[in-house]
Amino acid sequence: MKRRDSFKKLTKEDVDFFRSVVSSSGVIEDADDLEHFNHDWMRKYRGQSKLVLKPSTTEQVSKILAYCNKERLAVVPQGGNTGLVGGSVPVFDEIIVSMGNMNSVRSFDEVSGALVCDAGSILEVLDKYLEERGYIMPLDLGAKGSCHIGGNVSTNAGGLRLLRYGSLHGTVLGLEVVLPDGTILDNLSTLRKDNTGFDLKQLFIGSEGTLGIVTGVSILAPKRSKAINVALLGLDTFDQVQAAFKRSKEELSEILSAFEFWDHGAIGLVKEHLAVGANDPLQSTYPFYVLIETSGSNKEHDDEKLGAYLEGLMTEGVVQDGVVAQDTTQIQKLWAIREGIPEACSKAGAIFKYDISMPVPVLYEAVQDMRSHLESLNAIGKGKPFTSVIGYGHVGDGNLHLNVAAKDYSKEATAMIEPYVFEWTAKHSGSISAEHGLGISKNNHLHYSKSQPMIELMKQFKNMIDPQGIMNPYKYLPNK
Ligand SMILES: Cc1cc2nc3c(=O)[nH]c(=O)nc-3n(C[C@H](O)[C@H](O)[C@H](O)COP(=O)(O)OP(=O)(O)OC[C@H]3O[C@@H](n4cnc5c(N)ncnc54)[C@H](O)[C@@H]3O)c2cc1C
Repeated sequence: MKRRDSFKKLTKEDVDFFRSVVSSSGVIEDADDLEHFNHDWMRKYRGQSKLVLKPSTTEQVSKILAYCNKERLAVVPQGGNTGLVGGSVPVFDEIIVSMGNMNSVRSFDEVSGALVCDAGSILEVLDKYLEERGYIMPLDLGAKGSCHIGGNVSTNAGGLRLLRYGSLHGTVLGLEVVLPDGTILDNLSTLRKDNTGFDLKQLFIGSEGTLGIVTGVSILAPKRSKAINVALLGLDTFDQVQAAFKRSKEELSEILSAFEFWDHGAIGLVKEHLAVGANDPLQSTYPFYVLIETSGSNKEHDDEKLGAYLEGLMTEGVVQDGVVAQDTTQIQKLWAIREGIPEACSKAGAIFKYDISMPVPVLYEAVQDMRSHLESLNAIGKGKPFTSVIGYGHVGDGNLHLNVAAKDYSKEATAMIEPYVFEWTAKHSGSISAEHGLGISKNNHLHYSKSQPMIELMKQFKNMIDPQGIMNPYKYLPNK
């Protein structure tokens, strides 16, 4: 890829201007300090930015973008930098606008549950804030300790609670966004119903920093459930996983809040690389594992329902083994296994991550077919380019995380799995990105999930809002 000639290179005068806007403490130029911002969580992508800006107010963001737009300086918005598609780091020397200093709760309505906060607020901090008030964030993910709500909105993050509370397209009530020319679009509504004009916030949810910088978020928090149960099950086949899921919708219905699965390879990596691997309470190992969570308002009622459901599964041989957590510590220990899988994968070498959605019946075929494909190329096993193919994900949302562990991120290795994986997904009417987004790893493959007229319309929107193309360039939309 070539740096776009139309972008100006940073000068001392530019840095002096930014210093006058955000003060010296919000300007990072030191090479060692820049390091952390220039590479992504997977250490797969690396930029060469010479400048990180850390604004503290929306007005500062506005001044920064207005200047960058006028001077044609390219910009990458960065939240917690936990994104998994290379969207949060520069490709060349783009200026990084890090949102970490904008992290306050602006208001919370204890009647409606509407929370209004700065975009740089850390997801887990917000969840703790709400917990003290009897509420819960409608989303949760393994990266909660680092990711920002602004990053979540910008990637339209899914995660572990989507089954229950739906996507951010439903729970976000309003946004404050700074457009590339510095205009502040103040739409921090706390209304649930508002049918006046185009719903502009939806355009920014999942736009990965390509249309502007999200500075404020208004989101509807549900009441925190009083009764939480978590069960871990061991199963022999993916058909059994599906049978357990189908029955959970029938028998646990309104109290079902998560239905996650992982395979034998995933638990193997967690046990090999993480201390939480010791949390597995099951006596034997199984080809598949399911974590079920219920949340309701009446413990006795929920216990009874979950007990009857599990008994039915055991009696009919749908599950081979299972445990129900007895207290909060055990609940956390079971969740830690599931949440540890991405980290365990990242320790297994170079990881090619695919985040695909498709009809549940073919969900695990993606893993099996990828394995067979690599076997047919004689490319998997000891001393070969790939070491393992594992699958885990959100069964309830038809979302598979297909991870292929490799020796390195070489072009040769990439060519063995791409476009194979995208063609497979398109053939099965799936999406090549269920929740992680496109960034720089999937942007050129967008046509596998969206038609040409749709891509053209997206490009028109981008050109209308960001005519100089300064916002997160080279990513999201196809470069070709
Ligand atoms: C261990 C682990 C588990 C994960 N689990 C899940 C999961 O279950 N579900 C899921 O969906 N994702 C998951 N992710 C991916 C990632 O955490 C999410 O994409 C998250 O929403 C990114 O938030 P962030 O603040 O780190 O954003 P970043 O990584 O900093 O940025 C992501 C993108 O959003 C843009 N951006 C960030 N902030 C702003 C802003 N304020 N305004 C405009 N653009 C902005 C960036 O430019 C970039 O394109 C996981 C990641 C890890 C490491």
